[in-house]
Amino acid sequence: MAELIRIVAVVLKGISAETARQPDMECCGLLGGQNGIITRTYPADNELASATAYEIAPRDLFRIVRQIRADGLELMGIYHSHPTGDNSPSPIDIDRAFYPDTIYFISSPVPASAGANPGRATANPIRAFRIRDRIANELRMEPMMAPMHCVRCCSLVR
Ligand SMILES: [Zn+2]
Repeated sequence: MAELIRIVAVVLKGISAETARQPDMECCGLLGGQNGIITRTYPADNELASATAYEIAPRDLFRIVRQIRADGLELMGIYHSHPTGDNSPSPIDIDRAFYPDTIYFISSPVPASAGANPGRATANPIRAFRIRDRIANELRMEPMMAPMHCVRCCSLVR
């Protein structure tokens, strides 16, 4: 059974919107959350301005990590897009997965695989991976509709 990650649906929409907004460049950014649920998207500039690689600009990285803390959240994820390819981790993505406790999200407008969520009729536009010791394990994603305060106080909201 794949590890499960909970993510607010609006965050998935945000990643898809960033992917669509930059069809010629990998988009990238950080994801914040708390209590095991990712709740917020923090877009960053792709320092490499490339369609096949990304690097979060160092000035963005520091600014956003501070902002995540100021928002009372933790850094939980890093996302980027593969504008022209399958959304599996590339060898470079695996080489440069420097944050073993962070979940790596990869989006694609042309996904080729339903990945860890095989019940879906279509391929997943966004997939989530934990990358440790050069091994990428895909996580199951559970999109949530509820805002944070409902998640905390009410177990019926999904
Ligand atoms: Zn990649």
